[in-house]
Amino acid sequence: MRSFAAAETHFCIVPSGSPPSVDGLAISEPKYLECDECGARVRIDPADQTQTTIDNLPHDRGCSQRDVTSRYFAETFVR
Ligand SMILES: [Zn+2]
Repeated sequence: MRSFAAAETHFCIVPSGSPPSVDGLAISEPKYLECDECGARVRIDPADQTQTTIDNLPHDRGCSQRDVTSRYFAETFVR
């Protein structure tokens, strides 16, 4: 099983880019998880929610990263 953190997978964490007054996140705080291959992105949950995982990424039908496990994501962001 491939891991989110494995070298052959390509995802990026997109920072908020806006001040806390806009979305409650600091400019450098992670806001989206994005698939480098098809550009699918999903909003990362705030600290008090754990609903979103990499499994929620709306990948394109042909994206090779559709099956990447969410283990790393969960361990990193689920508190
Ligand atoms: Zn994808």
